[in-house]
Amino acid sequence: MNIILLGPPGAGKGTQAQRLVEKHGMRQLSTGDMLRAAVKAGTPTGLEAKAVMERGELVSDAIVSALIGDELDSMGAESGAIFDGYPRTEAQAESLDSILEARGRKLDHVIELDVNEDALVERITGRFTCASCGKGYHDTFEKPQVEGTCDKCGGHEFKRRPDDNAETVRTRMAEYRAKTAPILPVYEVRGIVSKVDGMADMDEVTAAIEAILAK
Ligand code: AMP
Repeated sequence: MNIILLGPPGAGKGTQAQRLVEKHGMRQLSTGDMLRAAVKAGTPTGLEAKAVMERGELVSDAIVSALIGDELDSMGAESGAIFDGYPRTEAQAESLDSILEARGRKLDHVIELDVNEDALVERITGRFTCASCGKGYHDTFEKPQVEGTCDKCGGHEFKRRPDDNAETVRTRMAEYRAKTAPILPVYEVRGIVSKVDGMADMDEVTAAIEAILAK
C-alpha cells in the first residue's frame, strides 16, 4: 500500500506516520527528515537546502523528488510507503506519479489531516524530540513522564527544529496554502482522498486512519 499524509506543518503527519510504521511495518518517507539528515551530513543537497529550510520556504522540486526516488529504490517492493511532507507542489505530485509507475506501485490513499491553523503555531513551537531515538514530545501536550528523561529510550538529550519558531512557521503555513493545498483536487478527481479531523485526540486520528486503510 502507498499512501500520502497531507496537511499543513504541525497537523500530525509525522506522528501518525510513525504509528503506521510501528503497526504495519510500512516505511515512512519524510522529505523533511531526509533533508535534515543531508544538512547535518553537509552533503551538496544539504548545503543547498539549509538556508531555504531556515526561511520556511520550499526546497526545489528536483531535489526532493530525487530523494524520494532513491529512498523507494532502497526499499523492498513488498514494503508499503507513507509519504510524509511530499508531494508539496503540483510538479512534485506529477513526479510522484511517474516515480511510482516506474516502480510498479500505485497510490492507494491520500489522507488529508484537517486542522485549525490557529492552533498549529502552539503545537509546533512547543514540540521537541529525543536526540537519541527521535520520540516526539510537547511542552504542553506530551511531556516526558520524568522531566529530562525520554520515556522510550531513557535518553537525556532533546532537540528542537530550528524552523519551529513562530516566524518561520508563518512562512511554512503560507507555502502550504499557496503551493500544497492546490494539489488536493488532483487526487480528489481520482476518488482517493479521505479527510480526517486532525484536531481530534491523537489516538482518535490513528483510529480514523486505520479505518480508511482497512476499506
Ligand atoms: P517538514 O519536516 O516536512 O516540515 O519539512 C521541513 C522543511 O523541509 C520545509 O519547510 C521545506 O523547507 C523542506 N521540505 C520538506 N519536504 C519538502 C518538499 N516535499 N518540497 C520542498 N521542500 C520540502
